[in-house]
Amino acid sequence: SIVVTGATGQLGRLIVEHLLNRGVAPAEITAVGRNTERLAELAASGVGTAAIDYTDPASLEAAFAGADALMLVSGSEVGQRVAQHTNAITAAVAAGVGRIVYTSAPKADTSALILAPEHKATEEALHASGLPVTILRNGWYTENYASAVQQARENGVYLTSAGEGRVASASRTDYAEAAAVVLTTPGHENVTYELAGDVAWTGTDMAAALTEVVGSPVVFTSVTPEEHSAILTGAGLDGGTVGFVVALDGNTRDGLLAGGTNDLATLIGRPTTPLIDGLRSVA
Ligand code: NDP
Repeated sequence: SIVVTGATGQLGRLIVEHLLNRGVAPAEITAVGRNTERLAELAASGVGTAAIDYTDPASLEAAFAGADALMLVSGSEVGQRVAQHTNAITAAVAAGVGRIVYTSAPKADTSALILAPEHKATEEALHASGLPVTILRNGWYTENYASAVQQARENGVYLTSAGEGRVASASRTDYAEAAAVVLTTPGHENVTYELAGDVAWTGTDMAAALTEVVGSPVVFTSVTPEEHSAILTGAGLDGGTVGFVVALDGNTRDGLLAGGTNDLATLIGRPTTPLIDGLRSVA
């Protein structure tokens, strides 16, 4: 059986869908997360469900008991995740799980990406667990640009401090399908995949795609990090959020989200979803 954490979230839900599409019997899948309403919706599709919290080891061990594979979708509580993921890995070992698949970040072991350290520490805990592991170093989701679509519609501008930094984004469904492939086919044990979209686009490319999606001209506006901070602060964002957004744009400018492998297309056996289609899905 396969246990999927984060199944109450956007990526995990799609992983469950792709497992079902690939012919895994609903009874062979256990979807787990915290949100009980979402768990009830998942149960309606016939899969097993269990309420877990990464901070509650007993809940994890009970939910993971005897699973052939654990799909550990990284959590969303930034800053808490090393302890949380370590709890999940410890519980997986205690529960006799056969193998673990984990969603990490691009080049997590060496990258200066601000989100990398928690993923790097989790990868180390996975390798120390003694269990066979597969690391899916997921690149950026195109859906992360939902707010860019909204702003483009409102003011005709795509504004970043990422310069000409490229982003090889792909749709969540692409990454979810890759996870389902890895969970249902042999040969992925102790492999690390660098997953990203086939096309590494620039801010100019994004503005062109946004122009098509919103149906009116969208201009790429490149600002300095200082200008960006001032604009975001002026728009009412708190200091933490401003720092995060500007740092991520700096990471993008430095090419840390630019992809460069075709691991994702290879795993799913088709091209990744084009930027414009991903944007249309959140427009
Ligand atoms: P979501 O925010 O939609 O889902 C996060 C999931 O994590 C939810 O199911 C949530 O459960 C679960 N979760 C969070 N904290 C806990 C906890 N303490 N105990 C148990 N479950 C917990 O994110 P996505 O599905 O969009 O993305 C999946 C992951 O990918 C994110 O959590 C994050 O690590 C990473 N990510 C990657 C991005 C990228 O572009 N590659 C962008 C953003 C995030 P519940 O809802 O039931 O509380």
